[in-house]
Amino acid sequence: MSGPNTDYDPVEVAAVQPEEVDAARDAALAAIAAAADLEELKRVRTEHAGDRSPLALANREIGALPPQARKEAGQRVGQARGAVSKALAARQQVLEAEHEARILVEETVDVTLPTDRMPAGARHPITTGSELIADIFVAMGWEVAEGPVIEAEWLNFDALNLGPDHPARTMQDTFWTAGEGDAESGVVLRTHTSPVQARTMLSQEPPIYVVCPGRVFRTDEYDATHSPMFHQVEGLAVDEGITMAHLKGTLDHFAAQMFGEGITTRFRPSYFPFTEPSAEVDLKCFVCRGVGSGDSGAPCRTCRGEGWIEWGGCGVVNPRVLTACGVDAERYTGFAFGMGIDRTLMFRHGLSDLRALFEGDVRFTTAFGSEL
Ligand SMILES: [Zn+2]
Repeated sequence: MSGPNTDYDPVEVAAVQPEEVDAARDAALAAIAAAADLEELKRVRTEHAGDRSPLALANREIGALPPQARKEAGQRVGQARGAVSKALAARQQVLEAEHEARILVEETVDVTLPTDRMPAGARHPITTGSELIADIFVAMGWEVAEGPVIEAEWLNFDALNLGPDHPARTMQDTFWTAGEGDAESGVVLRTHTSPVQARTMLSQEPPIYVVCPGRVFRTDEYDATHSPMFHQVEGLAVDEGITMAHLKGTLDHFAAQMFGEGITTRFRPSYFPFTEPSAEVDLKCFVCRGVGSGDSGAPCRTCRGEGWIEWGGCGVVNPRVLTACGVDAERYTGFAFGMGIDRTLMFRHGLSDLRALFEGDVRFTTAFGSEL
């Protein structure tokens, strides 16, 4: 028969031994003091004050003790746990303060630094591009000529040997202004910058050396490579003894100035009403330099492996155009050429979409318009 369980063997409940509780407390306090940041303190908290920490386990042991031993053990463990949680709270406060102080230093905003609330804009790449082209010709002694964008039908077509029945007249998909009643207005949005050439010949005597950059209009769809409004540059030289050789030399110089030394042009036979003979101008690809492929052997993306890029049209001015514009075709000859400014800029900057030039995105203008 066994009596009431009044005796207990302290050895069996080692976790509640004073030395064990003191040791657990001291280890916890040391770890808390050593925690260098909030992250580490969190780990210390779990290890020394969590459900599976030595002091929590000791606390659970208390319930298994004989009643007469519980009070003393409970007090001891409770004090130890109290000391640990107080130390944790204190350390937490210190580390939080440090953390805040560090953030204040690291994320300081210097309000005295100059700001750029009104970023400087940039001129549009078409403006700077047109000026660059004009500069190349002005350096050769040419003049820059300009004319109206709303132009007389006669100057846009007839003076340039595009008679009333000429297919190019419809080919060029012209915007006509509205006339009075049923009458035709006889006024168009110019389909090319050539009327400026006609105006120049009508208003001044040869020798004539003019370059005409400007805006032109055709009823094209608006997509990545077409626009109903685009920009052209045309050149006209009228003087005694002007030949196709002068034309070739001039365009080669233009190409080299625009795209780099060694970039030349080649001519392919073509037909334009205002020139005879006429040629399409190709530009030697300035990326692969006419080779058609890159170092890896892959086809050049700029010229699609051709080595040449279509650039514009040119030719010796048709004597009928000279005569129509009051120039003595027996004495003078001339050459003319024209190319798209937008297209030229697309090659030069590697743009794939023409629309980027017209949609007025300031980021685009800033990137391409500030320098050329
Ligand atoms: Zn190429």
